[in-house]
Amino acid sequence: MQSQGKGRLYVVGTGPGSPDLLTLRAKKALEDSDYIIGHQRYVKLIEDIKTDAEIITSTMGREVERVKLAFELSKENIVSLISGGDPGIYGMSGLVSEFLYEGEEAEVEFVPGISAFSIANGILGSPISNDFAVVSLSDLLLPWEEIKKRLECALLGDFVIAIYNPSSRKRRGRFDEAVEIINKYRDGCFVGIVKNASREGEEHIICKCEELERYSEFVDMSTVLIVGNSKTKFNGKIMFTPRGYKI
Ligand code: SAH
Repeated sequence: MQSQGKGRLYVVGTGPGSPDLLTLRAKKALEDSDYIIGHQRYVKLIEDIKTDAEIITSTMGREVERVKLAFELSKENIVSLISGGDPGIYGMSGLVSEFLYEGEEAEVEFVPGISAFSIANGILGSPISNDFAVVSLSDLLLPWEEIKKRLECALLGDFVIAIYNPSSRKRRGRFDEAVEIINKYRDGCFVGIVKNASREGEEHIICKCEELERYSEFVDMSTVLIVGNSKTKFNGKIMFTPRGYKI
C-alpha cells in the first residue's frame, strides 16, 4: 500500500455517534488531516473535533465517487475518509480495498471504530458473549435470496445474531419477511432492539422474538437488533448469554 507522494489516506471509523466513543487514533487522524471526506451524517458526528481540514460532504449512493476523490487528494495530502461505526463493517474499508486490489497506489491506514453491535451489546447487557453472526438486511448490493439464506444458516447454527440495516421506508417488507424467518427458529427467545445507540434519541426494547412484529414501525435505519439464541436470558433488567461460569 505504498505510494510515491507525501500523502496518506486514513479510513476512519467515527464510532456509533457519541464523540467520546471515537478512538484516540481516529481523533489524531482527523486532527492531522488536510481533507475530511464523508457522508454528511458522519461528518456531523465529528464536528466538535478541532481541525483545520477542509470538510467535503457527500450523500448516500455516491460512495465510488467519494473514494475516487479520496485517492486523488491523498496523492499529495493527508486525507481522512470517514465511515460510521467501524469502517470494516458495512463501511468504506471494503470499497477502498477494492481500489487497492485493482492496483490503486496510496499509503492507506484503516483506523477501526466501535461498531453498532458492540455499543448495543453493552446497552442490553451482554447478549453477545459467545459466538455470534452479523447479518445486514440491505439488498442494495446483495440479492435478497442470499441474505435470507445467510440469516437462516445463522439461526440454524444457534448463533446470537446482530442485524444491521434492518429496515428503511423502501424496504419495510424485507424486515417483516426476516421476522417471519427468525420466528421459525427463535420462538420464545429474546431479542434486543437498540435505536440511535449513543446518539440523541437513544432507545431500546427487549422482547420475545414472537413480539417483534409489533415493532415493525419502530425499527428503522438507525436501529440494530441483537437476536438472542436458545441460551440467552433476560430477567427484566439484563439480557445476556451465559458462557458457563456460574449459570
Ligand atoms: N459501519 C457501521 C455500520 C454501517 S451499516 C458500524 O460498524 O456500526 C448502517 C447500520 O448500522 C444501520 O442501519 C444500523 O443497523 C447500524 N447502526 C449504526 N450506527 C448505529 C447506532 N448508533 N445505533 C443503532 N444502530 C446503528
